Amino acid sequence: MPQSLDISKSNPNATIPDATLNIAPALNPAKPSLVGMPRETLKAVLAEIGVKDKAIKMRSAQIWHWLYIAGVTDYDEMRNVNKDLRNALAELYSIERPELVTEQVSVDGTRKWLIKMPLQKGETLGQEVECVYIPEQTRGTLCISSQVGCTLTCTFCHTGTQRMVRNLTSQEIVAQIMMARDLIGDWPSMERVKDDNLPQTGRMISNVVYMGMGEPLYNYEHVKNSINIIADGDGLALSRRRITLSTSGVVNYIDKIGEETGCMLAISLHGVNDEVRDVLVPINKKFNLETLLDACANYPGISNARRVTFEYVMLKDINDSIADAKKLVSLLKGIPAKINLIPFNPWPGSNYECSDWQQIEKFAEVVNRAGYASPIRTPRGRDIMAACGQLKSESVKIKKSLLKKASNAANEPVNTTESD
Ligand code: SAH
Ligand code: SF4
Repeated sequence: MPQSLDISKSNPNATIPDATLNIAPALNPAKPSLVGMPRETLKAVLAEIGVKDKAIKMRSAQIWHWLYIAGVTDYDEMRNVNKDLRNALAELYSIERPELVTEQVSVDGTRKWLIKMPLQKGETLGQEVECVYIPEQTRGTLCISSQVGCTLTCTFCHTGTQRMVRNLTSQEIVAQIMMARDLIGDWPSMERVKDDNLPQTGRMISNVVYMGMGEPLYNYEHVKNSINIIADGDGLALSRRRITLSTSGVVNYIDKIGEETGCMLAISLHGVNDEVRDVLVPINKKFNLETLLDACANYPGISNARRVTFEYVMLKDINDSIADAKKLVSLLKGIPAKINLIPFNPWPGSNYECSDWQQIEKFAEVVNRAGYASPIRTPRGRDIMAACGQLKSESVKIKKSLLKKASNAANEPVNTTESD
């Protein structure tokens, strides 16, 4: 029986607005955030507002410290930054967090947060994304989103049924980590949230995985910048070996992300031949298995100590035969790899079934014998729909025509950057 604690506030914007209703025209966008802005951009901002050349390095280091080591959300807390500079920054940039819409806590301690981002230019509703925290005794993994919705349509994935709304900015990606740390009390000035399920030793967020909503390599620049901010040694300082980007196989960006961030790579494989993979992960029609595996074998820095993870969702009678298991092992020969068998997590309206447990074990046995340790990944947070592939927000793309109609009604100009 699902026992999730739902402390949700009601979310009035959670449904698609009806054309007959009075839709608000585009509102003033929020100030851009300083949190999640690349260091070089921060320096350029400081130069722009008149900080002298020789002070820029020192000022940017001070601000970086307050944002990422202290986790402040108010400029007045930046005690060694003079008031004039704080005021000038506050005029133009925000350091506040986005809004928490709901928090759900699973019986296994997994936490799922629905976060509403501040309005961007042309938006009438703040976009919502999901972010999941998976605590263990000595470590904690945060699963973050890179897009609102997804352009791809993997047939077994809930996010794939949500239309792509937009890319998240690096600020919005980094904000998910900042908020998670607020919510579990993970800043020096805070007390840790009391919960036996949370890590009792070690870092509360020791690992970050880009496995939430969206295809990270279709939002390349922002994802790259966010990884480099998360890994910055003078700030959040997560080891690049503990940051994993999962892709459905956008092959033309795989080498580049490795070169430019040094993050770990995970591949949503799910099929061992092109025929099956074309259906499950349709991007396979563009970049087939051979091209994908070739990119993996050449991933920058790959070694036995830095393996590529292959995710394989277990779908009854689709990809779970013993012959499939053997093919999987032979396909990955020569590539330093880990295999994660993910029991399919159902969602409302899904057309697949999870493989029988016995079958998963038989499949895992073949994989195990080939030298891959503990291949089955126990689903976490299923009771709150926080498990792999269950994420989907209610954010929708509003049609230009609806926005125009609303705008005419309100007799105001409207920005129509959102497309039909
Ligand atoms: N778009 C990226 C990252 C997000 S999906 C990607 O596809 O890799 C994170 C992982 O969850 C992927 O391996 C995805 O294939 C898997 N997944 C999606 N739907 C699932 C479901 N219903 N059950 C189990 N795993 C699922
Ligand atoms: Fe998008 Fe990944 Fe889901 Fe495929 S599995 S639809 S790429 S989020």
